[in-house]
Amino acid sequence: MIFLLAIILYQHTNDFTEKQLGILEITPYVIFIIGAILSIHFNRSRIFFTIVLLSLTLFMNHYYTNKQDAKVIFSILCIIIPLNFMILTLYKERGIFSIWGIIRIGFIISQYALANWIIHSKYKDYINIIYKNFLPVKHNFITSKQWLLATKLKHLPNGITLSESITQVSVIAFIVTFLLLLIRLIKYKYTQEIVYIELLLVLLFLLYTNGNPLIYYICFIACGICLIITVIRDTYFMAFYDELTGLPSRRALRQDMMKLGMKYSIAMLDIDFFKKFNDTYGHDTGDEVLKLVASMIKNVSGGGKSYRYGGEEFTILFPGKNKDDVIIYLDELREKIAKKGFALPSKSSGNKKAKPSTTRKSNGNKRNNKNKSRYKTKSRGSKLRSNRVTTKIIYITISIGVSQKDESYKTPDTVLKAADTALYRAKKKGRNCVSK
Ligand code: GH3
Ligand code: MG
Ligand code: MG
Repeated sequence: MIFLLAIILYQHTNDFTEKQLGILEITPYVIFIIGAILSIHFNRSRIFFTIVLLSLTLFMNHYYTNKQDAKVIFSILCIIIPLNFMILTLYKERGIFSIWGIIRIGFIISQYALANWIIHSKYKDYINIIYKNFLPVKHNFITSKQWLLATKLKHLPNGITLSESITQVSVIAFIVTFLLLLIRLIKYKYTQEIVYIELLLVLLFLLYTNGNPLIYYICFIACGICLIITVIRDTYFMAFYDELTGLPSRRALRQDMMKLGMKYSIAMLDIDFFKKFNDTYGHDTGDEVLKLVASMIKNVSGGGKSYRYGGEEFTILFPGKNKDDVIIYLDELREKIAKKGFALPSKSSGNKKAKPSTTRKSNGNKRNNKNKSRYKTKSRGSKLRSNRVTTKIIYITISIGVSQKDESYKTPDTVLKAADTALYRAKKKGRNCVSK
């Protein structure tokens, strides 16, 4: 939407007065300053470095008026941008004014300083190496005509022609970075990656088109706005969503509890013997199981909205429903989780048996036998050289307490407390059950 608006704005620049054009020229820098302040405030180092990168790119692109130098600097920018996007993608958030942050800023600035120095030095000719075609393919593969066909435009917007000078090195760098971002988006589902893919494509478009400078200013304004929105959205998600499970957090629960009407139920859920689970299989496996259980709780039926209350405890709000209405959905969820086996890869020596403490024959419901493990497991195996690689299936159960708004519990807080007391009763009853 933002880039669409940018294109619409660009098509109206012919009607702009001198003063308006002057404002347009400084607007990207104003937006970058706002973005930089916000990213420092919320400690979003990746966004901050991107803003530094974009500000320097825009500045450099218009600093050189001499045609020859402009062409060289343009070719260098075509490499600096994808290369730094790639580094920023792999870079972990390590602060802005930390030693790591300062090294990064120094690295970014030094690339531009080096480009600037090299243009004015006697080594200028060495730059020719970036024009070398390393691969035997014709990389200026899109002609103006093909571009127009692909974009279904009748003609390119005023002042834009397609560049013939984007180098093969740059095209390769753009493609590698694009693929890297795409893989991370698919693998980790980082929403920030979408913004970076978008930015990368817009910058490629800008560098590929030899445009009227106005298109640069407008597109950089759009990029800056996207980055500001990303900072705000990230901060919102950090405040209202739980990082591990992706469920809304306790803060979101507090807010949503205020919106409940005259009729509602609240359920409290707790994983059974989870401490023991962590002790047996490790905290990392515990986290994985927590994520899986959370994803099942998220899909509860009956119009319930799920939250991570904290630790291995979850809350579900059912607006407009009595506890008798929702018990069926909660019991269905409890049963679904109890029946779902979580596969754990484990490798054990060929003739060793699985430890007695982690295997148990049980059909799951009551966990009263204190001498044996709390967790039902099954093993599947195959022979691989002398070692036996097995997949252990672990079964997890949850206990649930539910309460509703009525004469005794009039506020969401008291209903939640009553649900917690009901949960305690469910634990006492032997766990893996729903209590009201
Ligand atoms: P009960 O059936 O009575 O609920 O027993 P429990 O062991 O589940 O209860 P308890 O509250 O004593 O222990 C909760 C454990 O949950 C403690 C901690 O090891 C684990 N836990 C809490 N948050 C996390 C988390 O984010 N990741 C992992 N892996 N474990 C967590
Ligand atoms: Mg607990
Ligand atoms: Mg528990």
